[in-house]
Amino acid sequence: MPRFRVEECGEYTAELKQTLAEALLVLEPALHDAQFGNKSAVFSAIFKLGDTKEFVQDILTKIFSGTRMIDLQPNPYIPTIPTFACVTPYTWHKNKFLKADPYALCMPPLGIGQAFIMQGTSYIYLCPSFWTRPPWPSFPDCPSVWKNRWVGPGQYLSNYQGYLLIHEMVHFYLGGSSLGLSQNPPEVYEFNGCVGLGTYDSLHNPQNYQNYVACKTRTVINMLPPETS
Ligand SMILES: [Zn+2]
Repeated sequence: MPRFRVEECGEYTAELKQTLAEALLVLEPALHDAQFGNKSAVFSAIFKLGDTKEFVQDILTKIFSGTRMIDLQPNPYIPTIPTFACVTPYTWHKNKFLKADPYALCMPPLGIGQAFIMQGTSYIYLCPSFWTRPPWPSFPDCPSVWKNRWVGPGQYLSNYQGYLLIHEMVHFYLGGSSLGLSQNPPEVYEFNGCVGLGTYDSLHNPQNYQNYVACKTRTVINMLPPETS
């Protein structure tokens, strides 16, 4: 059973399918770790204490298994997996159900990112700038921790195609409850901002899952439990 669809990506189609397949493999160590919940230092640093294990396992399992979701445009009654589409100047014209022009969202002055989900649809759009990013980092993905602060450049995971794809798939499965650009509170990207979120927002902030996956993929030393306040 396919776990994602790719549309309108032309010469990038094979490359994208490869990176998506790799993203599902990269997810596996986190999926395994999530069953330990708060007993895992990395898990509790990112998703805090409390009854969070089932929620995180559910989101990661849905991504990993390609669970079909309903109530998504353009076919709300047909259960649908995430659909990745490459944005061109003609995307809006071809997809009349969209409420905004993906190309305008990709390009200056809006330029909201390299990839984004159109909330309420099955579509994750990849901007032309997405293809300027390398698929994966060639150095350890997760920063280490020093005095209960993460050490490392804040947003660098989002510089990589694979982590951007994981981030957007988390949005897909969180649906309307996901923190986003226009939500209150808005979604948080920077590492220390992510670990500073409370339990509920941690579970609804896609970057927390992205960080979790990255930190379970590579060995992290010196991970400290969350500060209790
Ligand atoms: Zn996001």
